[in-house]
Amino acid sequence: MSIRQTNGRGRFDSILDTVGDTPVVRINRIAPDHVTVYVKFEAFNPAGSVKDRLALNIIESAERDGRLKPGQTVVEATSGNTGIGLAMVCAAKGYPLVVTMADSFSIERRRLMRFLGAKVVLTPRTAKGFGMYQKAVELCEANGWFLASQFETPDNADIHENTTGREIVNDFNGEKLDYFVTGYGTGGTVSGVGRVLRRERPDTKIILTEPANAQIVGSGYVNTRNEGHQPTEGHPNFEPHPIQGWTPDFIPWVLQEAIDKKYYDELLPIPGPEGIAWSRRLAAEEGIFTGISGGSTFAVAMKVAESAPEGSVILCMLPDTGERYLSTPLFEGVAEEMTEEEAALSKSTPSHQM
Ligand code: PMP
Repeated sequence: MSIRQTNGRGRFDSILDTVGDTPVVRINRIAPDHVTVYVKFEAFNPAGSVKDRLALNIIESAERDGRLKPGQTVVEATSGNTGIGLAMVCAAKGYPLVVTMADSFSIERRRLMRFLGAKVVLTPRTAKGFGMYQKAVELCEANGWFLASQFETPDNADIHENTTGREIVNDFNGEKLDYFVTGYGTGGTVSGVGRVLRRERPDTKIILTEPANAQIVGSGYVNTRNEGHQPTEGHPNFEPHPIQGWTPDFIPWVLQEAIDKKYYDELLPIPGPEGIAWSRRLAAEEGIFTGISGGSTFAVAMKVAESAPEGSVILCMLPDTGERYLSTPLFEGVAEEMTEEEAALSKSTPSHQM
């Protein structure tokens, strides 16, 4: 197991040994006074997101049981973070990687994956998540590649049970933890952490969230799947939403466990713009730089806080770094040239050049 089990920095034999064991950080300025809010900040992973955990486990688990052969090409459909994580892991271990991705996801994500040595095959945004997924399956079948299968593999929730969930239980050992708030993409986080919290912290309420305009879990309709648990249709309640990494256009098999075993106590939808607003506040008022899904999860944590009893402790997942969103609505309105106020500052001292 390469995931580092002790907190702190030190010397490591490989970049892969730095995956996981992310810090839990208290919010000091923007949360209401009657509660204590913490964030679990997954940007501390070496490739900047929670998906580094899954990427490492998918590859190492397949190496262990022989599903992945030395030098075999890995292929996966991913909206970005899994691809970036897999690219990091494949680069460190010497596997070629091909990622399929809808052309609606941010340009940074493609370029990052290519920078990390992967090939990125774009699929039309009109074909949605299902289209990029189909392309990965076709490439796998045509070439005998290893399909990472993040939406179906047990290696996904397992790593969150063995690391993310364990870390949370250890960090709150002997302390209150009233609410755990998370969104879902594959559902690996909620299913894996859910197993641990239900077993070891049954009083902790788990709050799941999804985009207000794509309430596929909330609809109650479960899409059809084949015998490999892969979706055979897009979900009828899906609509494109701005929260990259959340809610594909089908209910993944990995998430189904959390639904069937009731790993969440409440499902609270959130509009993307509210998530963007909270991501901006986390950066500008707490110095915590996370993406749109982090802001959206935090927005839900703030809603939970509104009605939470005095003294409640809330933990909120922040899945990735905000640096991945420079070309997205998250940065809309952030000036490139000097603002009027900045220009006035510039003119206010002698070295100003006209
Ligand atoms: N936020 C972002 C930015 C992500 O990339 C992902 C993973 N796709 C998630 C949240 C959700 O994590 P999970 O797949 O474990 O449900």
